[in-house]
Amino acid sequence: MPFQFLADNASAFVLLCALLGLLVGSFLNVVIYRLPIMLQRDWRVQAREVLDLPAEPQRATFNLLLPNSSCPHCGHEIRSWENIPLISYLLLRGRCAGCRVPISKRYPLVELTSGLLAAYIAWHFGFGWQAGAMLLLVWGLLAMSMIDADHQLLPDALVLPLLWLGLIVNHFGLFTSLDSALWGAIAGYLSLWSVYWLFRLITGKEGMGHGDFKLLAMLGAWGGWQILPLTVLLSSLVGAVLGMILLRLRGSDTGTPIPFGPYLAIAGLIALLWGDVITGSYLRIAGF
Ligand SMILES: [Zn+2]
Repeated sequence: MPFQFLADNASAFVLLCALLGLLVGSFLNVVIYRLPIMLQRDWRVQAREVLDLPAEPQRATFNLLLPNSSCPHCGHEIRSWENIPLISYLLLRGRCAGCRVPISKRYPLVELTSGLLAAYIAWHFGFGWQAGAMLLLVWGLLAMSMIDADHQLLPDALVLPLLWLGLIVNHFGLFTSLDSALWGAIAGYLSLWSVYWLFRLITGKEGMGHGDFKLLAMLGAWGGWQILPLTVLLSSLVGAVLGMILLRLRGSDTGTPIPFGPYLAIAGLIALLWGDVITGSYLRIAGF
């Protein structure tokens, strides 16, 4: 019984999840890079149809599996031994095997983040459905945060399935009751939607994207409406701190929009994992 073994040996489960996290991280790199390109191509095709423009010539297949990964600089096709998470990067000393041009540090960093998060989830929840579901959520959050940081885009293709999944897992009461999850999704969406319209009516500008409403709805579906106040509070804190750091690094370039998605994702994860502890100690300090 391998499952019994994992249930009995916490460290074996943590190690297994860490390794799985590294492998999934390698796949997430593909998703982060390719999904926005795939969506853009789809939208172009649709837009030309709507505008009655002639269709563009058929392009080579491009999806999450095909073509095989290759060096963006020299086109050298990545062989399987060059595709082992972290290890290949270290063996290749961070350079392409074909042209020796440095490989972006993002790839090993995403793999490492995915592995560490998976190990932590395994340790936090122990062997069981909760850990399994939460792994899917953190991998989804990692991918959408990176895509949002790159393109100011939170793809429905990632956010909406995870919103439904949150409602489904809480049908079984995995993290909260179905009732809390349902109202979490509704209140999550409506709260940012109201902020958006208020901001727009007062300033005439768009302060955030519709993807942010859906992301908070998704987090509410996983953690219930109870995590929403803390999530919003933490996301502004994380946003203010990281925003200041980024502003320092990039200079006073206030024109570029800073995506809100990654902050919401980080804050939501913190609220999901430690919300009870944080709220509990806050109330104790406040004297309740
Ligand atoms: Zn190369």
